[in-house]
Amino acid sequence: MALDLVIKNGTVVDGSGLPRYRADVGVAGGKIVEIGRIRGAAARVIDAEGLIVAPGFIDGHTHMDAQVAWDPIGSCSCWHGVTSVVMGNCGFALAPCKPADREWFARCLTAVEDIPTEAMLAGIEWNWESFPEYLANVERLPKALNYGMYIGHSALRMYAMGRRGLEEEASEDDLRVMAHAVGEAVKAGAMGFSTSRATTHITPDGSPVASRIAAWAEIDRLVGAMAELDCGIFQIGPDISGGEAQRVFLDRLRRVALESGRPIMFGTLATRQGRDPNPWDWQMRWMDETVAQGGRVWGQATTRSINAVFSLKSYLPFDALPAWREVRALPLAEQKARLRDPEVRRRLVAAEAEMKPKGSELQGGGAATTDPRKPDYANLFPMLDVDWDDPSVAELATQQHKHPVEVMIDLALENDNRVFVQPIVNESPADVLGLLKHPRTLATFSDSGAHVCQEMGSSLQTHLLSYWVRQRQQFTLEEAVRMLTFDNASAWELPDRGLVRTGFAADLVVFDAGRIRPRLPTVEQDLPGGARRLVQKADGIAATIVNGAVAFENGEATGDYAGTVLKSRLAAGG
Ligand SMILES: [Zn+2]
Repeated sequence: MALDLVIKNGTVVDGSGLPRYRADVGVAGGKIVEIGRIRGAAARVIDAEGLIVAPGFIDGHTHMDAQVAWDPIGSCSCWHGVTSVVMGNCGFALAPCKPADREWFARCLTAVEDIPTEAMLAGIEWNWESFPEYLANVERLPKALNYGMYIGHSALRMYAMGRRGLEEEASEDDLRVMAHAVGEAVKAGAMGFSTSRATTHITPDGSPVASRIAAWAEIDRLVGAMAELDCGIFQIGPDISGGEAQRVFLDRLRRVALESGRPIMFGTLATRQGRDPNPWDWQMRWMDETVAQGGRVWGQATTRSINAVFSLKSYLPFDALPAWREVRALPLAEQKARLRDPEVRRRLVAAEAEMKPKGSELQGGGAATTDPRKPDYANLFPMLDVDWDDPSVAELATQQHKHPVEVMIDLALENDNRVFVQPIVNESPADVLGLLKHPRTLATFSDSGAHVCQEMGSSLQTHLLSYWVRQRQQFTLEEAVRMLTFDNASAWELPDRGLVRTGFAADLVVFDAGRIRPRLPTVEQDLPGGARRLVQKADGIAATIVNGAVAFENGEATGDYAGTVLKSRLAAGG
């Protein structure tokens, strides 16, 4: 057979965790067809001498539902070796949705996930109502990555109940409509059903999102609709407010796991904030015990802290203060001139004393940027590099005999693109390592597509390979690649992805194990309508191949978009 592509002379890390070996990889018709010393001709050859050839990375927790409409390349995940994502997490989805509710949906996504409403209204050709219509629309869109999707509870509730969905328990009729839609979605290809009980998930007016109004019996019923089909994953944004509330939440979630038998996924996060935080290893024990009793559960763990990100070009913690608001409304060049003026600086530093004090509240879901408290400067870091070893603003202030606010002003003036990070959860690298080492957690959770100007999680894969593998040597390259590929493919039940194996889809990433590393994030104004977002790219990735097409070379999109929709067993014909 004539080959479409041969990746020659590379070292294969096949995703199974087995040790690496040298071989060429041959691709035809979008699949891996030959692994060895390939002699036959190929339309295209990539020389991977000195490079690793691995399966493309899989990220099961993204919010790219809106972005997929205007961004064929799938940034920023695409720049970190990702070839497949799952969207529609935490109950937030764009389907099902009645035409009259479109703008409200967009505003809710803005409130919860900081996806600008204007970008959604300008960038989406909104031509669906039901979930199967949305899926068919994604299928038609040009896309460099593969996309799986959940049917989202908040969308579903609004669809079935209208505005009552934001206030009331569902009636028997409502439940019938919703359960039917969940079954219909899974049969059409949905990866499952998602919801959220997270206290940080609120609507534009500050009330809980629709899924949080639901009684647990409603969740039983909707997960039960998947159990009847013996298909579909249940993803839930957990209550991480700490203490008793979180313990009650997990007790009830265990019942869903045991009664439905469906695989359950939820974010496992370590936090030292909130009231009476439950330690991360307590969540691990909860998983082990639930599995011992017969449930199927997976924890979603990211590879680093999840941070609120501040910069001169986006948010600063002081923006709401009147003295700051005046300066921050100016064009960037004028802001910088004012920030250099000693009199203005004195006023800005003095204004900081008026900020709301930091209490025990967990400032997740963007609140750190939209409703900031006085920063804890010992937990606020200028990102001088990407390796998690920067001094805190408090340390710099002591060293330089300056007020912390002045330290931040000076660092921002030094470099317009300077970002500051304030860890919200996973503050301690040791906790993150504990989470990642547990066999029931998955390395995922970029939240790509969400919090576009508030957080930047898309680099979790390149961070794992550069920081935890190369620098800290806590995982072998083979282990880390397995976590990003075969483990996730297995958990999301993708039967032909996640391994370099003949017959599998040719989703591949070719990288330099000695160089792969995220770059510093920057703020760009590249959303539809000109809205801004954080962008983070990476070094060390030579090529990313999706379904046999070379989609990226040295970080640049080629325009060859062979991404597809990832479907449940019932729709994939498995
Ligand atoms: Zn989420």
